[in-house]
Amino acid sequence: MRKIALLGSTGSIGTQTLQVIEEFKEDFEVVILSAHANSQLLLQQVSKYNPQIVILTEEKSYNIVKNALSGKQIKVLYGPEGILAALEEIQVDLVVGAISGAAGIKPTLKALELGIDVALANKETIVAAGALVRQIQEKTGARILPVDSEHSAIMQCLEQEKQAVAKIILTASGGPFRNYSKEELKKVTPQKALKHPNWDMGKKITIDSATLMNKGLEVIEAHWLFNVDYENIQVVIHPQSIIHSLVEYGDGSILAQLGLPDMRIPIQYALTYPKRRSNSFPKLDLTKINSLEFFPPDTEKFPSLKLAYEAGKIGYTMPCVLNASNEVAVELFLQEKISFIEIPMLVEWVLSKHVPVKNFDLETLMEVDLWARRESRAYKLAR
Ligand code: NDP
Ligand code: MG
Repeated sequence: MRKIALLGSTGSIGTQTLQVIEEFKEDFEVVILSAHANSQLLLQQVSKYNPQIVILTEEKSYNIVKNALSGKQIKVLYGPEGILAALEEIQVDLVVGAISGAAGIKPTLKALELGIDVALANKETIVAAGALVRQIQEKTGARILPVDSEHSAIMQCLEQEKQAVAKIILTASGGPFRNYSKEELKKVTPQKALKHPNWDMGKKITIDSATLMNKGLEVIEAHWLFNVDYENIQVVIHPQSIIHSLVEYGDGSILAQLGLPDMRIPIQYALTYPKRRSNSFPKLDLTKINSLEFFPPDTEKFPSLKLAYEAGKIGYTMPCVLNASNEVAVELFLQEKISFIEIPMLVEWVLSKHVPVKNFDLETLMEVDLWARRESRAYKLAR
């Protein structure tokens, strides 16, 4: 039985991870669960999986769960510190990082520091703290098994052959506004942006998919995970989301990974790696797909992708600022305080004010993250 700590168990990836675990019940034991505010769902999960420790990072929900579980053997911890303490307390075989946003940075780094492999969905950690992740991995040997479907696809394509890799090709659905004009983009509401054509995901990543920032974050994620220069990472719009990404080799061959747009497939691969196991999930029937299309991305209409490449190429603390300002911009858009097209404008504005810090530790990184959030909130006033 592999002991699993599932961080962000109440989210889209978290709940799908539990579905995968259900498929292979005899192989996995859930010992740690963490959630932010969804106490109801967490309590349901607790009664089903009987973990040893649960953590809530929102105070009211923590109190609810603490009361509900009083007298039980289960330890209930509070806050980001609680997650770190839980990881130190129980030895686990795998941490599943399914928290959304920069809140995932410290838990992910802690797991890697403890030498625990991480099945990582939380791309924001790699974007903001790629260099620190690398340093820690070199020290402890802990691995990251990507859950992000594109990076899972690339990992699978690289398994055949790691030599003569010429290029990584990341596919992007293009989001719901792929064919919108610039004028139409100005009027996009949160309600519209929250409907993704192919994937059912958390709010933040759904907005990121609509602005193409998600693909920008994934470019930086691919750079760190696979050690590939930005020049050799290409983004291709593929609206059907059937090909999850590709690797081009020097001889001109391109390997691709295909499947239904179902996150349980990459989640499972990260959980059972290096084994490929049969499951009962629906399978792709190629005869039902009439065509697979590919287009270049329009970075004029969707500048977020360009901003991510630029921040990634500059490196240092620039991607951390990109990530933090984007998180605030998405929040402000969801609160209808800025418009859809202002998301990249805000990010660009904050990036232009940042002087990258070349040598940084986790503390400095967190200060930069906070600075970027403050600046982002000042965007409206300054305009
Ligand atoms: P959700 O918003 O659905 O879930 C986020 C999870 O993190 C929830 O369990 C939530 O708790 C918890 N959480 C939220 N804020 C905090 C915080 N401040 N501290 C601790 N925990 C917190 O997101 P997704 O599952 O969609 O995404 C999770 C990660 O996976 C993201 O980084 C995303 O980019 C990545 N990813 C997601 C994909 C998808 O298909 N959904 C695909 C590829 C990558 P609660 O619910 O209790 O509030
Ligand atoms: Mg992805």
